[in-house]
Amino acid sequence: MTHYVKSAAAPLPAVNKQGFYEIRMASVGGFGANVAGKILGEAGVLKLGYNGSNFSSYGSEKKGSPVAAFVRFCDSSVNVRVNSPVTEPNLLVIFLESIARTPGMLSGVGPETTVILNTPMDPDAARDFLGLSAGTLVTVDAMKIAIEEKTRVNTALLGTISAVSGFITPESVKEIIEETFGKKYVATVPANLKTFERGAKEFKQKKFAPDGKYKPLPFNRAGQKLGYLNQPIGGVIPAAGNSMFKDLTSCRAGYIPVLNLAKCTSCGECDITCPDYCFEWENALSKKGKQEQTLRRIHYQYCKGCLRCVIICKFDALTTHVESAIDKSVIEKGYVSDIKEIK
Ligand code: SF4
Ligand code: SF4
Repeated sequence: MTHYVKSAAAPLPAVNKQGFYEIRMASVGGFGANVAGKILGEAGVLKLGYNGSNFSSYGSEKKGSPVAAFVRFCDSSVNVRVNSPVTEPNLLVIFLESIARTPGMLSGVGPETTVILNTPMDPDAARDFLGLSAGTLVTVDAMKIAIEEKTRVNTALLGTISAVSGFITPESVKEIIEETFGKKYVATVPANLKTFERGAKEFKQKKFAPDGKYKPLPFNRAGQKLGYLNQPIGGVIPAAGNSMFKDLTSCRAGYIPVLNLAKCTSCGECDITCPDYCFEWENALSKKGKQEQTLRRIHYQYCKGCLRCVIICKFDALTTHVESAIDKSVIEKGYVSDIKEIK
């Protein structure tokens, strides 16, 4: 994306040796990081007059797979000749608390970096959670905003990015939000604009000097563990049963199904519908006194929060709840014996 018309774009607050202000966003599929990167890129280039580029990197387009979005801006007199991932970001945006401690998340972050984290924590607690050596830490409960406005975390985080960046004006981003969502999802535009405005206000910010509390993490390009020299012939997977380590917790967008065993008839519809085999069964005495397969619990480790099971259950034994409002003991147990347990 290149804008060749000279314009009166405000000077960028910081640039690297190549003349770029660089943004890295870390997320998983389903939270709109790719769209957020596009919106930011278009706002900077088409509305504010910078040159710039944006691209995303993701695997299968599936909820839960890692997504990284990269945005670069430079003065309109500089040509964009760099198209590699951002290694030393001026601004790092972490879309989910659950992925924030992934190894390498803070790679390349220095004292001049601003880190935005989607979390209810305040910056002091978030610094300890992340192990951030230095930099400006901004926390915003984007998930809460998204749940309340029935939107996604991406527009809340765009509001925070705009507010703390010092050069991405809210008007430019709001215009692109209207253009982007207005094409296909026009009914969602007002809620997304409100989400943006809340993200631009409801954040906390604190700058941390390098005080030695945590070590900085210079950028380090991790090599591939498997390549043509050492990968198993035929691409076979030698470790049997490894899918038990799968964890889709970070895919959930704030909601979970809760299983109320008092209403469950063990009809099995949810099990057929669930794409991720989250339901555990056991051979036990049914309510009618017969020995049969009986639904025991949900394994939330494998649950991506698609809520198809809630839709399919005819007996209201599965209901939707805001995950942060549910006691951790219920999530560990995987069921309630009576819905009053969570009310
Ligand atoms: S669909 Fe509902 S009633 Fe049937 S097994 Fe699942 S939770 Fe129980
Ligand atoms: S919400 Fe229900 S159907 Fe979807 S993954 Fe979780 S348990 Fe399975």
